Amino acid sequence: MTEYEFHPIANCYPAIPPAEMAKIVESIKLRGLHNPIWLYEGKILDGRHRYDACMLTGVSAHFRDYTGDDPIGFVLDQNDGRRHLLTTSQRAAIVADLEALRPGNPEFAKSPMISNYRNSYNRENIGESLARKHHISVDSANVAKKVKRADPALLDDVKSGKTTLNAAEKKVDAAAKAKATKDDVVRDCLGYPIPIQAQEVWNRRQEVQDLLTIISKLKTRMEKAKSESDVLYAKVSNRVIDNIAQLHCHLSNAKPYAVCTSCQGRPGAGCTFCSGTGMISKYAYDHHAIKEAKEMRENALKA
Ligand SMILES: [Zn+2]
Repeated sequence: MTEYEFHPIANCYPAIPPAEMAKIVESIKLRGLHNPIWLYEGKILDGRHRYDACMLTGVSAHFRDYTGDDPIGFVLDQNDGRRHLLTTSQRAAIVADLEALRPGNPEFAKSPMISNYRNSYNRENIGESLARKHHISVDSANVAKKVKRADPALLDDVKSGKTTLNAAEKKVDAAAKAKATKDDVVRDCLGYPIPIQAQEVWNRRQEVQDLLTIISKLKTRMEKAKSESDVLYAKVSNRVIDNIAQLHCHLSNAKPYAVCTSCQGRPGAGCTFCSGTGMISKYAYDHHAIKEAKEMRENALKA
């Protein structure tokens, strides 16, 4: 039997629960396939579960091409018996997915062209018309679209009935809020907010890290050459290799790690501890910052 893909319109509807699928398999095994499987654009528009049951049982399937101009309306009619089994949340999730197939929507470009689509749905009020046909409010459809934009996997959970639209919206709102607060504040390696004056230095952290990586490589290579008495590098003195190690150490101390515990990242008068950068290295924080200042910092972080 030829294998068919499911049409994007069909995929907008959730799969039926395993118990119902078992019933379909049983019925097809006993009585064969009565209703045909409908194809549209060479893909299964309606009858995904019947098709799967035929594949499972080896019962031969028969197909018909849908030639009308309202494939969505057709699927909806075919699913009418199922509608009472779906919650309002699930139907809203379906509408959000169907609407994403609409021509002109950027996501539509990812789906195959749904021909004649515009004949049956006016582009301007397609959302409204889909909502009406699925017996949900336009507001619910808009919430579902918002969830889909923010977190498509979460909308799938709504569709399969794992969560409600209301709970999903709350989750999306909370995530957006958390992200906004996080993005507003730039924090050091300890999670302490960095004052604006010190952020320029903090932002060059990667630059120092890149140099450290180069020097590490160089140092490792030269040490290996020395240990193997590689004649190619005979003229490179041990003293110079030691200097490279020292440079690595100095650069590590230049890498911003925490807000300066002395000037608190506001080196107006010129702070000697951070050399006026407002930031100190991990080594300076661990070994040279005074105990009281570190305690204050840790308490501030706990609060
Ligand atoms: Zn300082």
